[in-house]
Amino acid sequence: MITSVDEYELVIVGGGPIGLTCAIEAEKRGISYVIIEKGTLVDSLYNFPTNMTFFSTSALLEIGEVPFISHSDKPTRREALEYFRRVQEAWNLNIHYYEEVKGIDKNKDHFSITTSRQKYISQYVVVATGFYGQPKLMNIPGEDLPKVRHYYREAHPYIGQKVLVVGAANSACDVALELYQKGSEVTMVIRGDQINPRVKYWIRPNIENRIKEGSIQAFFNSQITRIEIDKVVLQTPEGTKTISNDYVLAMTGYIPDYKFMDKIGIERDPEDVGRPHIDPETLESNIENLFLAGVIVAGAKTSTLFIENTRVHAQIIMERIKEKEKVMQ
Ligand code: FAD
Repeated sequence: MITSVDEYELVIVGGGPIGLTCAIEAEKRGISYVIIEKGTLVDSLYNFPTNMTFFSTSALLEIGEVPFISHSDKPTRREALEYFRRVQEAWNLNIHYYEEVKGIDKNKDHFSITTSRQKYISQYVVVATGFYGQPKLMNIPGEDLPKVRHYYREAHPYIGQKVLVVGAANSACDVALELYQKGSEVTMVIRGDQINPRVKYWIRPNIENRIKEGSIQAFFNSQITRIEIDKVVLQTPEGTKTISNDYVLAMTGYIPDYKFMDKIGIERDPEDVGRPHIDPETLESNIENLFLAGVIVAGAKTSTLFIENTRVHAQIIMERIKEKEKVMQ
């Protein structure tokens, strides 16, 4: 039962790197705010593969003027978690953890935000919910079997197992290589005729050479069409192939939570179904005083926006809020 109602000028939905940056910029301008986060601090990063390394240098991930020192130029997940923990402490950010925003209603002059715990009232809302919570599904029979995973943590559970990795972008290549190095029998199924050209330049030759020498088997121009308990069925240029299999790691990417966006009433581009309608100058959505920040702005084109090129969203939005407040005075 919802009992309490808290009031802030601004409610920020999502405690990822960009939600935190929005809070810091609000703090600097004296805007009262709360971040509501459904998981832990930077929950998406927490759920990244245990041994992943960022492709950005640490300097490009810095927020709130807090220096990010890492052991090499590309920080690890563990270093990033430590870093964002220090940012939270340095700015003493007001975050409510493990509380999910379920609905946002626009009333005449304020928003009413309903969460899994309580209600909030605010004049402004920033939605910075990212995309990592929703895997892009393959929509094939057997996808719901427990042996199919859309998230990867580490290689250990897959030692000595026959693993099919679906995809050929950064995550798929990282996963295939790590699994091969730790003793899995790895097969890749790839829709196109090559490893994605955008794969990190220090990973691409490694995976291509493992495929060339046959250490990792790869089916190009192929698709997975069915998953069963002990096998998978592939459609390849040579016809249908059935291969013996223990696990499927579907590294097929992630998409923003469209259901959540639609429920709030954020309009999406009919030509580019995932992309929300926003004013590119201010990041305000079709709903007055509701802004979008971070990777959610890219819609389905999730590989175009990152931490390093969306940090600036926070400043743009908070400047706009200050301008609006000046006009109202
Ligand atoms: P997120 O970090 O996804 O944060 C969104 C937050 O919102 C989450 O904590 C989530 O739990 C919360 N949330 C969602 N829905 C709700 C709700 N209804 N109520 C409350 N909370 C909610 N970017 C780079 O710049 N450099 C890199 O090197 C880099 N490497 C990457 C490597 C991998 C493997 C991946 C997957 C991504 C990488 N990225 C990188 C992208 C980067 O992680 C994202 O751009 C970044 O996380 C986006 O930040 P965000 O705050 O917009 O979203």
